[in-house]
Amino acid sequence: MKLLLHACCGPCSLEPLRLLLEAGHDITIAYMNSNIHPAAEYDRRLQTMLEFAESQGIAVVEGPYEPQAWANAAGVYGTDPDARPDRCRACYRLRLEEAARYAAEHGFEGLATTLSVSPYQYIDEIGEELAVACAPYALEPVFQDFREQYPEATRRSKALGMYRQNYCGCAFSKVEAAEEREQRKAERAAAKAAKEAAEAPRRAAEEAERARNRAEKQAYNEKRQRQRALLKKMKEEAKRQAAE
Ligand code: SF4
Repeated sequence: MKLLLHACCGPCSLEPLRLLLEAGHDITIAYMNSNIHPAAEYDRRLQTMLEFAESQGIAVVEGPYEPQAWANAAGVYGTDPDARPDRCRACYRLRLEEAARYAAEHGFEGLATTLSVSPYQYIDEIGEELAVACAPYALEPVFQDFREQYPEATRRSKALGMYRQNYCGCAFSKVEAAEEREQRKAERAAAKAAKEAAEAPRRAAEEAERARNRAEKQAYNEKRQRQRALLKKMKEEAKRQAAE
């Protein structure tokens, strides 16, 4: 099938591209990601994508970069954690609709996306939005849950020395990801402190045991020293008496 593969970044493209090529599709990558903030980050991910695609002999088409369109469609949901699923759904919709439009205008038969490789995304919403985006154009939505490939994608992207961003894309996600890292760090520190506190009585008992052993050894050595000194004195006395 002549397939347009919407791709959010290079690392997330690795495994979906491999599997879809293995399935026999004729693939072009669509980099359509107005969600990415700031523009320098958008360019960096694009460059990473282009370098990888070129190494694979895969063409890349770039959509218009329109952060304001993203702000109007998804940014309006803000940072409320309860609204995050809706925000992300609107974000998927914006990008997948753009990719579907391009696919229909350029004779593609189907549309796929790399978004479903990330365990941090909403998998059901991605599948639903892909189908909704394809429907008006009678495109085939080629949806696949690639999350099992995430560890392999991570391994390969590291091995290739690819740029690997540490947040999803939008300005909100950058703040959220930083907060989540801080939270995980605090949780690790709390777990370590709790473990140390739980082990403290055992460590104290072991130290007391070592101190007791040291004291016993020292007392034994001192006793032996006294015995040897006494023995020596007795021998000298016996020797002196024998000489008289
Ligand atoms: S967290 Fe990611 S998917 Fe969700 S709105 Fe931000 S960029 Fe889009």
